[in-house]
This record gives sequence, structure tokens and C-alpha cells, in this order.
Amino acid sequence: MQIAAGLYCLGDKTGGYVRAYLVEDGDSLTLIDTLRDKGGRLVLDYLRRLGKQPGDLERIILTHAHQSHLGGLAALKAATGATVYSHDWEADIIAGNRKIEVPKTTTLVPQKPLKIYHLQTAFVLGLGVPPPCEVDRNLKDGDHVGPLTVMHAPGHTPGSLAFYWPARRALIAGDIVTTWPEVALGWPQITLDNKQNRDSVGKLADMVDAEIVCVGHGQPVIHEGAKVMRELVAGRATAPELAKA
Ligand SMILES: [Zn+2]
Ligand SMILES: [Zn+2]
Repeated sequence: MQIAAGLYCLGDKTGGYVRAYLVEDGDSLTLIDTLRDKGGRLVLDYLRRLGKQPGDLERIILTHAHQSHLGGLAALKAATGATVYSHDWEADIIAGNRKIEVPKTTTLVPQKPLKIYHLQTAFVLGLGVPPPCEVDRNLKDGDHVGPLTVMHAPGHTPGSLAFYWPARRALIAGDIVTTWPEVALGWPQITLDNKQNRDSVGKLADMVDAEIVCVGHGQPVIHEGAKVMRELVAGRATAPELAKA
């Protein structure tokens, strides 16, 4: 679904309502994250519906190396020839050379939100590891990729990245904020450092003038996004306007 001019949200109920985003800016087409399906079919179908060829996808950039976001990566890179970008810390996990890190306090004991317990168990047991894929280029804070400014947002993982599109006032935030099953500062049991994550969200909210916040799980926030982030950091109740599913 279209969120703003040239900004599209992709995903279904799988992977904890995991989301990927397409950014179309003139002739440049960028995919952020790749959903859970190993065939990348949903992304390829969506490109076709936009009248694009697979080869039109110029780049795939990754918010972080958690499995729900990487399922389609290897297939999509093969199908499109896109250049793959991530933060350096995440790259060897994506390439299959290192395991994801699980917070020490996270075990098979159910933690809130309970609706993601199936993902918590997969995470702890190391199940569902996506097909490995080499990262072509590393990104760091302040880099520019297409129309997007790269923002380092450590906490959920050390190499978590967010991407800001100033012309659309849209922040593509990855898992530092989630809106499913509730609006929150991500899922605490798979966030490596929750305090650092909160600090990152606060820092980004002050740096960007975001109306839209595209989250890693759940529907995007479409109104007063930076304010919603500040309310979450302050621990205040927030009821943001979300894009219709
Ligand atoms: Zn994650
Ligand atoms: Zn995730």
C-alpha cells in the first residue's frame, strides 16, 4: 500500500506483521528490508504491480539482521541484481558467518508481548535462519543512499539503522519502534539493550521532523510520528494514527 508519494509498505500477517518498504524517487528504486518469505514473492509481485521489472530495483538496504527481515534477501538479490547495504556490525550475520545475539534475560519463559511468543522461541532456539547473503556495502550514520539519510540507532541491535526521507518527512525506523501487537519501543525480549534503544528513539525524534514513521512490525504511523516517538520515550500513553491495513 502507498503511504506517501513514492513510499510503499509491503507485508502481511507473517513474521509478526513484519514490514518492508519501497522507496521510489525518480528513476531510483530502493527496498528497505525483505520480509520473511524466502522466495521474495510478495516483493516481486509488488514490483510488477508498480509496472517495474526486477532489474529496476537498484538497492536493498537493511535495518538490521533479524530473521523476519531477511527471508527474501538472497532470492531478491539474485532476481534483481540489487546492491545490498547494511551496517558493518550486522553484515557478517547476514552473510551467515555469525549467529544473532539473544539478550541474556530472554529464554523460553514467555515474556510480553505474548503474541510474539512463537517468534521469541524461534529466536532463542535459532530456528528459521534465513538463506545467507553477502552484503556489498556498509552504511554508517550520516551516509546518504538514494533520497535517504542514514541514521545509526543502536539498541535493538548494535547495528540497527533508520532511514530518513526529508522530502516525505518519513522515517523508516526498523524495529526500534513497533505498532503490532501494540505501539511500543520495539519488542523488549528481542531487543539487546532496551535502554540504549529508548535513547536512540529519543535522539532520532529530536533530529527528524517526521510525520510518518514506518515501523518494522505493524502498520506505519502516518501522523505526528516524531511526537509519537517522544511520547513513547517519556512513557506516556499514545494513540497514533496508523495506516489502514
Ligand atoms: Zn529485530
Ligand atoms: Zn523484526
